[in-house]
Amino acid sequence: MAVINNDICVACGGCIELCPVAAIRMIDDKVNINIEKCVDCKICVKVCPVNAPYVLEEAPKE
Ligand code: SF4
Ligand code: SF4
Repeated sequence: MAVINNDICVACGGCIELCPVAAIRMIDDKVNINIEKCVDCKICVKVCPVNAPYVLEEAPKE
């Protein structure tokens, strides 16, 4: 699954438009990925101008 580093993201909206499953949305001015929808295509990772999204190989352990 992909996650976004909101410390880096400049909220350009590019990844929101290009995500094929509409998993990315803006919540309280922060870009957020719905990990239940994400299909790991990595398009957001490729299109982001500041490399804010990254892919986690597995869910973080509690
Ligand atoms: S990896 Fe693909 S499916 Fe997942 S949020 Fe990024 S663009 Fe959307
Ligand atoms: S493409 Fe990058 S900078 Fe733009 S909204 Fe997505 S994560 Fe943020």
